[in-house]
Amino acid sequence: MIIGLDDTDSRDGMCTTYLMAVLISKLIPYGKLKDYPLLIRLNPNIKYKTRGNAALAIDIEFNDRNDSEKVKELVIDTVERMAVFSEENTNPGIVFIENSTQSMTNDLSVFSMRAVQDVLEIREAKEILSRHDIAHKGYKNERGLIGALAAAGFALCGLPDYTYELIAYREQKSWGSLREIDPGSVFAADAATHPDTWDTVDIENERIVFAPHSPDPILFGIRGNSEEAVRRAFSLIRSEPVERHVVFKTNQNTDMHLIRAKIQEVKEDRSYILEGVVIKPPKTITGGHIIVEISENGTSIECAAFEPTKGFRRIIRELRAGDEVKVFGSVKDRTLNLEKIRIDRLNMQELRNPVCCDKRMKSMGKEQGYRCGKCGSIRKEQVIETIQRNILPGFYEVPPCARRHLSKPLVRFSKELN
Ligand code: ATP
Repeated sequence: MIIGLDDTDSRDGMCTTYLMAVLISKLIPYGKLKDYPLLIRLNPNIKYKTRGNAALAIDIEFNDRNDSEKVKELVIDTVERMAVFSEENTNPGIVFIENSTQSMTNDLSVFSMRAVQDVLEIREAKEILSRHDIAHKGYKNERGLIGALAAAGFALCGLPDYTYELIAYREQKSWGSLREIDPGSVFAADAATHPDTWDTVDIENERIVFAPHSPDPILFGIRGNSEEAVRRAFSLIRSEPVERHVVFKTNQNTDMHLIRAKIQEVKEDRSYILEGVVIKPPKTITGGHIIVEISENGTSIECAAFEPTKGFRRIIRELRAGDEVKVFGSVKDRTLNLEKIRIDRLNMQELRNPVCCDKRMKSMGKEQGYRCGKCGSIRKEQVIETIQRNILPGFYEVPPCARRHLSKPLVRFSKELN
């Protein structure tokens, strides 16, 4: 039986991953998980999300098939005990898939992908649930059924690309207090396991980035490309007591949210890979955010490197008109929020006033030509000169402290970096 869960938490506590971790312990007597529990990140631009738009699923193989109803009751009871129903924005959803058909698999493979890349209606989840007679329970406005069904769908259909995250949870008595983690041990764990793990620390910004600051039950999460790697890092970290930990398989750091598109096809609240040419010098706006505008076939879009992206802004600031780039990120308010950029070609040429007598000639006014201040000679046009640039073509990404859950870090790209 596949069990999908979503939308049980609030900003003031709880976390659906923790509810799943507790549920997994409760399910031990009933059977074995067929695969790692799935931690699925859905569309990062959904306004209803509490934090990272996560949904969870497990696939359990029963010791005794007759336990199916008992397990459903146990799941429902656990959600009803632990979900934060009082929070207006918490609308839990639970989905149970017991017998799958090819047509269900076909529908879910599309639905689950859309939940990561698109904006869905609750009605669409309910249509699929009723079309395939999938057992489920939704609470309040039932929005959680979208994420619960999407996560269950990935458990059924598989993930095209995945990574792992080991999440360590705090003892309940510590929830809400400052996290006690020995920073030296975290930097040492990173040094011993990177690049098989990533985003534990941010070296450039001298920060630990794997622990949240919110009052939820998570102590920290270690991301990596194998269970072995995340467990090795875990074994090196010294911290307050860990109540429990779970290794999740996840679509985090896979770029699954990104749609390859033309600038003219862009829609709000979706995430894209776009290609274009820089059309203006980048501008810095209040707050230290950098905006650069790119264009393709006459349609343009502004791309932003916001202040939290720190040193990444240096690269964006160096762009100039004529540079050819590929940008990666989510679109909000007609602006693409940059997660990565690939600079394919730098414009190394510039139109400049001609040189005469070792000095630049002066413009005599619009379309009036140029005059040498020393010898008085006149030239009609500017000349093309090769200029120095302070950046190189290549792939650049935001630092770990600004990384979004779904964003694929460059350490995960193969050599060709496409
Ligand atoms: P946390 O990360 O702390 O677990 P969260 O950020 O996952 O919290 P939720 O509380 O799960 O946020 O709220 C997100 C809500 O949006 C859920 O009800 C989910 O079903 C719904 N949702 C997720 N993806 C989409 C989508 N693509 N379209 C419409 N609704 C979505």
